[in-house]
Amino acid sequence: MNGSCIFCKIVDGSIPSKQVYEDTEMIAFHDIHPAAPVHLLIVPKVHIDTLAECETQHHGLLGKMLALAPRLAREAGVGYEGREAPGGFKTMINTGPGGGQEVYHLHVHVLGGPRPWAPR
Ligand code: AMP
Ligand code: ZN
Repeated sequence: MNGSCIFCKIVDGSIPSKQVYEDTEMIAFHDIHPAAPVHLLIVPKVHIDTLAECETQHHGLLGKMLALAPRLAREAGVGYEGREAPGGFKTMINTGPGGGQEVYHLHVHVLGGPRPWAPR
């Protein structure tokens, strides 16, 4: 827990979010400024500033966060149903100023829906 971190506050419930998923290690909720028709954020409960701070002990968590993306995309109606179908989604992790990171609490973006849309 980092007292000044907005995503820690969402994790502890002191700031509201449109939550779509929770387990012991992570939550997922709708991005407040969606860059696509579906824009979700997968956020670990533990505070980690960036992907670059992840170490061996975080590898399991990272795998679970990434593996959750197709399930949430499917539940939001933008799941991948094969190459002949129009669905699918983008997963994205921004790291540091060069990566356009705004919130320094690790998160995976899940974006999808009818195009055009221009992810940041
Ligand atoms: P990033 O640039 O990868 O750090 O992305 C941070 C994302 O968090 C942006 O897409 C913001 O719109 C989103 N965001 C910031 N504050 C909130 C909030 N209170 N609830 C939901 N999403 C948020
Ligand atoms: Zn945090």
